[in-house]
Amino acid sequence: MPPAFAVADTCLQHPALTDEETMTHLLHRQIHGSLPVAIGGKGIELIDAGGKHYIDASGGAAVSCLGHAHPDVVAALHSQFDRIAYAHTSFFTTEAAERLGDRLVEDAPPGLSHVYLVSGGSEAVEAALKMARQYFVEKGEPQRRHIIARRQSYHGNTLGALATGGNEWRRAQFRPLLIETHHVDPCFAYRFREPGETDEAYAARAAQALEDKILELGPEEVIAFVAETVVGATAGAVPPVADYFKRIRAICDRYGVLLILDEVMCGMGRTGTLHACQLEGISPDFMTIAKGLGGGYQPIGAVLLGRQIFDAFANGSGFFQHGHTYMGHPMAAAAALAVQEAIHRDLLLDNVKAMGGRLTARLQARFGNHLHIGDIRGRGLFQAIELVADRGTKEPFAPGLKVHAKIKRQAMQRGLMVYPMGGTIDGACGDHVLIAPPFIVAPHEIDTIVERLGEAVDAALRDFEI
Ligand code: PMP
Repeated sequence: MPPAFAVADTCLQHPALTDEETMTHLLHRQIHGSLPVAIGGKGIELIDAGGKHYIDASGGAAVSCLGHAHPDVVAALHSQFDRIAYAHTSFFTTEAAERLGDRLVEDAPPGLSHVYLVSGGSEAVEAALKMARQYFVEKGEPQRRHIIARRQSYHGNTLGALATGGNEWRRAQFRPLLIETHHVDPCFAYRFREPGETDEAYAARAAQALEDKILELGPEEVIAFVAETVVGATAGAVPPVADYFKRIRAICDRYGVLLILDEVMCGMGRTGTLHACQLEGISPDFMTIAKGLGGGYQPIGAVLLGRQIFDAFANGSGFFQHGHTYMGHPMAAAAALAVQEAIHRDLLLDNVKAMGGRLTARLQARFGNHLHIGDIRGRGLFQAIELVADRGTKEPFAPGLKVHAKIKRQAMQRGLMVYPMGGTIDGACGDHVLIAPPFIVAPHEIDTIVERLGEAVDAALRDFEI
């Protein structure tokens, strides 16, 4: 059956590409093996060259917040392309970049007053780390050299960001190339809260791990603490317990340590508030954003930073010793502006909250008593199920089984994209599946997503004869 819209119709006039004909030189394709060829998309669906439709229930990797082929974004890109596609930031600024900067500061958590535009999440994290270090150099505290982050975290794949992340599977073989960083346990109730421990006691204990680490390293030598407000790509949609981040903020303030919140995945509306830290009632010194900022229409990321950081640079050397060729790219800025305007105008954060509630309810109904689902967690349209071999002991499946990859394959066969992640090699969490559909998702589509996911999980486990 031909897809019912122009983009795919045009594409389908060309013969479908086959494995032999195309993309044999693409490394990612060799690694992933056979992949369908995406030729079109509309709303929450993607379409492959065979005409098969897939519900994009993960927004790619929590990217496509507006879905695909949104007319406003397409129009904004055409219009920007007709004016200026590229102007290097050391020669020019552009209206698109200026307007995006204004918009981001207008909507920022209190205290964040400036924006540094880059091309993605890892670049944003690298820039935040370097800004934090240069800030202390400008202030006459060059002895500050330590970065503290958390285990079971992900901050990107470039070397500085990889060193900061606590995902051992991703780091292991690159360890000799990584800068020294320090890690404390995350705030991850399902895995780390003691039986009978209250939220309050657990928040205090989890935050205390940071204070202990700062004291161990010497407070005057610590630059920053880095954390995902709601953990994404390593442990799967893990929200903090109440008051954890208030305590973290207080500890950072006590020792003059900067707080960098990485909202590359959980930010820009994904959890129901524009920034995930708004629900925690705190502001960081730096916040990194990406994915939902441009919704996948262009590669873009940003660092939001506070006035005290900007002033230290302005009153010191007068510049930030960093930069990339494509920063502040006008096409990317125009796309991001159009995405953010559509979210605002169409009140999509209200839909994130409403559909998030429905998703939780449907997941609970389908998996609440499932023998191999240990935890259902998340916020807004950023939720996950964690698979375990044994619900009682929370023992994960053996990593070699790759249960998450099997679920992904089963889901794709059923026309469903979900984002699977494997257990960590330190065994601190198991396989999980992230569900992060576009903010425009409708109630019946939430029901279909959970229905297909349920079938995929059961089929994958059946394959293992589990
Ligand atoms: N930080 C977080 C929290 C992320 O989830 C990711 C990507 N999954 C990154 C940084 C890196 O972003 P990118 O892949 O755009 O470099």
